[in-house]
Amino acid sequence: MRRSPYDTYLLLLFVGVLAVAPAVLPEFYVTLLNYIGLYSIVALGLVMLTGVGGLTSFGQAAFAGLGAYTSAVLTTVYGVSPWLTLPAGLLITSLVAVSLGLVTLRLSGHFLPLGTIAWGISLYYLFGNIDALGGHTGIAGIPPLQIGEVELRSGRDFFYLIWAVLLGTVLATRNLLDSREGRAIRALKGGSVMAEAMGVDTPRSKIVVFTVAALYAGVSGWLYAHLQRFVNPTPFSLTQGIEYLFMAVVGGVSHVWGAIVGAGLITVLKQSLQDWLPRLLGQSGNFEAIVFGLLMILVLHRARDGVWPMIDRLLPQRVLHGSFSGAEDLPRRPRPQAGSVLLEVHDGSKRFGGLVANDRVSFTVRAGEVMALIGPNGAGKSTMFNGISGVDPLSSGTVSFRGQRVESLPARDIARLGMSRTFQHVRLLPGMTVIENVAIGAHLRGGKGFVAAACRADRSEEARLLKEAARQIERCGLAEQMYESAGSLPLGKQRLVEIARALAADPCLLLLDEPAAGLRFLEKQALAELLRRLRDEGIGILLVEHDMDFVMGLADRVMVMEFGQKLASGLPEEVQRNPLVVEAYLGGVE
Ligand code: ADP
Ligand code: MG
Repeated sequence: MRRSPYDTYLLLLFVGVLAVAPAVLPEFYVTLLNYIGLYSIVALGLVMLTGVGGLTSFGQAAFAGLGAYTSAVLTTVYGVSPWLTLPAGLLITSLVAVSLGLVTLRLSGHFLPLGTIAWGISLYYLFGNIDALGGHTGIAGIPPLQIGEVELRSGRDFFYLIWAVLLGTVLATRNLLDSREGRAIRALKGGSVMAEAMGVDTPRSKIVVFTVAALYAGVSGWLYAHLQRFVNPTPFSLTQGIEYLFMAVVGGVSHVWGAIVGAGLITVLKQSLQDWLPRLLGQSGNFEAIVFGLLMILVLHRARDGVWPMIDRLLPQRVLHGSFSGAEDLPRRPRPQAGSVLLEVHDGSKRFGGLVANDRVSFTVRAGEVMALIGPNGAGKSTMFNGISGVDPLSSGTVSFRGQRVESLPARDIARLGMSRTFQHVRLLPGMTVIENVAIGAHLRGGKGFVAAACRADRSEEARLLKEAARQIERCGLAEQMYESAGSLPLGKQRLVEIARALAADPCLLLLDEPAAGLRFLEKQALAELLRRLRDEGIGILLVEHDMDFVMGLADRVMVMEFGQKLASGLPEEVQRNPLVVEAYLGGVE
């Protein structure tokens, strides 16, 4: 993770200032800080959900409502102790989040935000129209929280609790993002194709991050209910949901500190606008909404990343180097017998509407051989890769991998069996370091979940994963670039990062789609050397490549495709002599 070396000092400074704040500030500012704290907790969930995961939600206020109303009802009607209502509220929030998530997270593009608006409105009206929830008048008489003998009745008393919870969520969020689960969540934003091909269960990751964000909102709502000791539907409306998103966007939607900066700025701004605008305009009304609307447009045009990155840029940066040298090696899967059939494609066809991109293609790949797949652009090579790896399944035909039929399995299950791939159009997460990108490849070799990650109980496994990633990076000749962001590398090197990522999965079969494109002569030689070594270890390699010297010097067998069909196959020298091939392909090139 890239982080300022001052980050820890910032954290300490932050804690120090907050510790003295309530003692020196007037009541008004303490109240303001309380609200900023409560809003920050919700906005922090959005940083993870929207900023990091790329899933936009307008409905977080409704989740805060669930936390608040659960406590309001349980304490006032059933006399449950306020502390016990927290787990109850979180349970209800997560049940609702998981159910809503299962329905809405399948939606893509703008349908997802629209979906969140829909349930945001529904929950709001539910709060307002159920008599047992006090209708639009709400529920009063919620008891105060009590710590030991002390009742938290004043805003000043409450302050420490709110900001302690906020600090806890900040730390948990940072830990979570810097972990195996966190990488999976960060991979969602780049589209789920790559993540799935690396074995990430992306629907599950989406539900996880969605539920965590909802839980943050639920905690905030619970605190709110006991601070106000009164709830009604208004603070849990869609308007508030939009404001939460606005806070996260203004602050810097993919930064933990951005949530607090955004919540602070918007809360203070709203407060001052509500004071000044009516005086300025000589009449009362919610004029701040107009200013906020204009501001939103300005932010989206001028400072898409929000305010925090501007502050962050002023701070010196340092990349955190993980310490993993002492970690144990990850276990490796048993190698298949050299020469045994790994992959068998039989009559594989793929149709895109009227276009037949693969037309009844059959071939095998064995353990310990390099099988090259060549043919002119548009011949259907990448389509075949997608079919085999489950990224875009074939229309008909069968694919057996290690004796198991896989043509209808999702990509992540095929990856689990030991098939790993690279993409012709590189799919890296450009903002993440090389080692983090490669560690995504090792996703299936770890098992620690988000709870372990949030409380740092995953460190020894994480060290093993990072060590493995570092090993593969070194193997691919990228040791010097290990901590650079992947997006800053030249395209040829990015392809090598993709190979390292594929190798981090400890595959039996490696699919490489044009790995040598963009490499210099010496880099190509090093790559050929690496592939030979992998072959000698017993890995099967299916290789698409246009550089004929590279292919013919490396491949054990070659298959030629044209217009989706298999034109020829055999030993490299046989194929090179085949008149059909010479005419259709090699002839055209030479
Ligand atoms: P190659 O990798 O051999 O250059 P591709 O497999 O990428 O070729 O493409 C084979 C053919 O299938 C091309 O005509 C291409 O335009 C078409 N094609 C590939 N993907 C799609 C898609 N998702 N939708 C429609 N047509 C596609
Ligand atoms: Mg291709």
